[in-house]
Amino acid sequence: MDDAPRRTVPIKLDVPEERRGDLHQTKTQFLHCANRTSEWAWRYDDYCVTSKSKAENALYDELREETDLTANLVQKGIRRAIEAVDAGVEKLKDGEKTSQPDFDSWSVVYDKRSASFNDDHATLSTPNGRVTAEYVLPPKEEREETPFGRYYESDDWNASSATLQYDEQDDTFSLHITLKNPDYTVDASGRQKAGHDDDGAENGVVLGVDLNVTGAFAVTSTGEFIGSADYLTHKRNQYEQRRAKLQQAGTRSAHLTMQSIGSRFSDWSLDWLHNRANDLIAEAQDADVDGIIFENLDHIRENIANGSKFQQWAYAKFVELVEYKVESTELFVDTVNPAYTSQRCSHCGFTHEDNRDDKAFECQSCGYEVNADYNAAKNIAVRYCGYIHRGQTSRGGWATSQLALKSGTLNVNGEYTPAQLG
Ligand SMILES: [Zn+2]
Repeated sequence: MDDAPRRTVPIKLDVPEERRGDLHQTKTQFLHCANRTSEWAWRYDDYCVTSKSKAENALYDELREETDLTANLVQKGIRRAIEAVDAGVEKLKDGEKTSQPDFDSWSVVYDKRSASFNDDHATLSTPNGRVTAEYVLPPKEEREETPFGRYYESDDWNASSATLQYDEQDDTFSLHITLKNPDYTVDASGRQKAGHDDDGAENGVVLGVDLNVTGAFAVTSTGEFIGSADYLTHKRNQYEQRRAKLQQAGTRSAHLTMQSIGSRFSDWSLDWLHNRANDLIAEAQDADVDGIIFENLDHIRENIANGSKFQQWAYAKFVELVEYKVESTELFVDTVNPAYTSQRCSHCGFTHEDNRDDKAFECQSCGYEVNADYNAAKNIAVRYCGYIHRGQTSRGGWATSQLALKSGTLNVNGEYTPAQLG
């Protein structure tokens, strides 16, 4: 099994009306292969067959007879079932309850022998010949920050396999394509680095920061939660209420009091933001990073479009204060386009809107569960590393980068290095 880093890119398909039935038929027959294999392999709870070649020897000819699938798809169905049986056996060994795997959810596994993955379409093998399905994509100029633009359209990543899925509610098909990057190499310390840094360029480390209008004010890729956005909002609301009362009173003295509490509140909030900026810089220095990475401000404004003018001011001011304060340190500040950073799994790269539910993140692909803001902070750092790997020079002057994480570093491939080894 090769351990090249992989990414999964989901792509919606435009399937011609008259070929949709062929895909459904493929699914039915594929699941038949998987279920027949599962029945065959799961003998007793203490005796199951977990050898793919044994299963293929026993079942392949029969399943070719029973279905109209190509050899490759029959083989994929058998293997899929054996993998599930194997996982079940592992669970039993750990004393967990499980039972014979049953395949009923809509899914077909393809690889390059049963499918072709082209610039704007895929072809998929079915019992009635290949189906050509166009990709449903955003306009070219908006693609750069999508997983499609970053991985599928990149020369560094090659499509190796895919899962065809069907959404009953939307009546749509989609292809979840797995891409591998063969150029990644492992250096002597065991850390993985991108393939383009063989010129000996220094490896920089960055801290990703996610800013929020609820919960923690700022969350770092090292798992530090800085300040409470809820508290800041609460203080602002208190001030607004007092101000409204005074305005209602309408007297000259009320007007003077209004002015004085107004300037007191702006002093207080500026002071609070200074302290949070100091907290962030202290965290960056503790983590021994070279740079602090924010989402770019235009996007912060978009993300908090529902937030008040005050919140917009507070976030812009906070970033400005950090930028100002790092001038007297070795640190630099830079920004990334944060599109999809809240939907992307920082563990496996799978990007989907269903991954996130408010502050809870649960990857629909690998099951990774984590605080959603912490996940986003890691993705902000990952994206910055991606920019650098694509040839941009960082403000720190280095050509490759890693991101700082709790008690260690995680590089752009998602490989984790504990601090004591780094
Ligand atoms: Zn995941």
